[in-house]
Amino acid sequence: MSIAIITGAGSGIGQAIAVKLAVDGYKVLVNDFNADAAEKTVARIGSNAAAHHGDVSNPADVAQMIEHCHRAFGAPTHLINNAGHVHQAAFTDLSVDDFDHMIAVHLRGTFLCTKSVLPGMLSAGKGCVVNVASQLGQIGGVELVHYSAAKAGIIGMTKALSREMSAQGVRVNAVAPGPINTPLVRALSPDWQAAKAAELPLGHFGEPQDVADTVAFLCSDAARLYVGQTLCPNSGDVML
Ligand code: ADP
Repeated sequence: MSIAIITGAGSGIGQAIAVKLAVDGYKVLVNDFNADAAEKTVARIGSNAAAHHGDVSNPADVAQMIEHCHRAFGAPTHLINNAGHVHQAAFTDLSVDDFDHMIAVHLRGTFLCTKSVLPGMLSAGKGCVVNVASQLGQIGGVELVHYSAAKAGIIGMTKALSREMSAQGVRVNAVAPGPINTPLVRALSPDWQAAKAAELPLGHFGEPQDVADTVAFLCSDAARLYVGQTLCPNSGDVML
């Protein structure tokens, strides 16, 4: 049986991943900082899902999340580190708190959640971790120094951890989505959206479902040769 924990699965890409893995037959623990959002995702899936309200950057919450998964379904076989947040500001306006919060959610969160599932995966001799990074961690986003640094850090963690874990049966990979139709992108000006879409070789943004399909592939046995990789569902966007 496959049992996945998906963090930040109350909305957007995380929700699409939870729904896709459930359709593929996984039991899914839907974590989110926002309890109502987590419950909404679970309502879409049904009895193969359970909601966990918790902050991925808080060790006590993460410990509870793993216990909750064991109680509801059993030991997690898959972990999708997706929880994140975006905050845009010019570098000169960024505060130390902005920076620390960004690093806490993305890097400390990925670190804590991964550390908490690894003992079980190592004793089972198999497991799979997929980290959700961003194209902006590869090319850098305008007024997104802290976000870009955090997402680049996730790619580095993915590569380094896969070197330690692959021989023990635990595959660690990442996805770095390009422009995806999320509420955040839809809130940007229609002119910007049209100009950006026109730049893309495919001529359109991806959907959260496209990222979920890539994650589901990395989670599957079809991806058995993929370790330490970062796959880029990005409509062919030019990487600078
Ligand atoms: P995207 O559009 O890229 O999918 P969203 O903002 O829609 O991004 O989704 C990110 C999810 O992560 C949100 O549901 C948010 O509540 C959740 N989240 C943010 N910070 C944390 C955290 N510290 N712990 C758990 N979940 C978090």
